[in-house]
Amino acid sequence: MHYYGTSSTNKLGHLTIGGVDTVELGKKYGTPLYVYDVALIRERSKGFKQAFERLGVPSQVAYASKAFSSIAMIQLIDEEGLSLDVVSGGELYTAIKAGFDAERIHFHGNNKSRDEILMALDYGIGCFVVDNFYELNLLSQICEEQDKKANILIRVTPGIEAHTHDYILTGQEDSKFGFDLHNGQAETALKQTIQKDRLTVLGLHCHIGSQIFETTGFIKAAEKMIQKLGEWNKLYDFTSQVLNLGGGFGIRYTKDDTPIEPSAYVEDIISEVKTLMAKHSLEMPEIWIEPGRSLVGDAGTTLYTVGSTKIVPDIRTYLAVDGGMSDNIRPALYDARYEAVVANRPEANLHETVSIAGKCCESGDMLIWDLPISETTAGDVLAVFCTGAYGYSMANNYNRITRPAVVFVENGETTLVIKRESFDDLIRHDLPLYTHE
Ligand SMILES: *Cc1c(COP(=O)(O)O)cnc(C)c1O
Repeated sequence: MHYYGTSSTNKLGHLTIGGVDTVELGKKYGTPLYVYDVALIRERSKGFKQAFERLGVPSQVAYASKAFSSIAMIQLIDEEGLSLDVVSGGELYTAIKAGFDAERIHFHGNNKSRDEILMALDYGIGCFVVDNFYELNLLSQICEEQDKKANILIRVTPGIEAHTHDYILTGQEDSKFGFDLHNGQAETALKQTIQKDRLTVLGLHCHIGSQIFETTGFIKAAEKMIQKLGEWNKLYDFTSQVLNLGGGFGIRYTKDDTPIEPSAYVEDIISEVKTLMAKHSLEMPEIWIEPGRSLVGDAGTTLYTVGSTKIVPDIRTYLAVDGGMSDNIRPALYDARYEAVVANRPEANLHETVSIAGKCCESGDMLIWDLPISETTAGDVLAVFCTGAYGYSMANNYNRITRPAVVFVENGETTLVIKRESFDDLIRHDLPLYTHE
């Protein structure tokens, strides 16, 4: 099996993470339980950040907090000296409550509300990543009213879409995000902004996709953007202080995934960007990136307790666990694939192939299809790997299932960072039609 980060086994033959016995974690905190390997998050953060430092390129590595946001998580990111992306008032509020420096917060989203913009201006965030003309006008209008100024990045769609090993050149960009670079929308946005003295354009932003294993897509996107920056420098005397190339760096979910190291992405991309900037006689801007999944994805493991089994003769065996699409909707939402082991004996010989079902009332509530596994019975703890990104953050209360607890483990220590929801939490906002005894 593949052990991520600090994962290993102990004398009892149990799976450990951060030096902590996962079976004990299950007993103490209950299941389902999200377990984060803090050392691995630190390692990934440093991987990106130190690569820029080694190259002597000014940068901001902003954690895309939508991947997993909580007070403790934001504080960990703060300890590592990263910046932060938020995409909603709620993510922004979490960051501020965590004590995160507003200057290093970047606000994304294709439909920021007036209230969200007011809130962000009030906190004094570092920059708005402006997505469309509506927002451009709204932001400038609110800045007038409030007598405030704002830094912005113009989000562009460069006509590149990248997923895993493929990147596609899309001439006519069909996306809900950003200003199109080819049809002149991005240029119009720039011209409009130059006239607004309350808005300062720091530069351009793009985000070309997710779970990307190669640098080609990033480089193609950079090429398109730098080409335009060259033109705009001549036409409008505009200099981009920042080039933000987004996130989307891939991770290993299963043995079929072959990611490269954070430093390898950075080195490859920077070397090309330097060449391209020089070619257009432009000064090297600050480079910003926005990893989400690649900082927390493989650092997260979900522990479940195995319950019922259903054998469909000659077809398949379903093994049901005490969670499912309520704590991890990715398999149901986009066929995400995972690997798992029995945490109380991860090294036992593989015995059969089963499919891991959740406990929600949906046939589509499956976590893993066709998982080779050791002999497994009710009460065993199943550890599903690589659930750290878009797992808890997409968790929901379908079937009125309570959201799991989340713990951080590091150097043999466990910290509870999100409490398990209670039934009372579930009905907290419910208002009765009448009271009863
Ligand atoms: C989702 C998102 C990211 C992070 O993507 P990952 O695949 O998690 O790295 C970064 N930037 C923007 C604008 C995003 O929407």
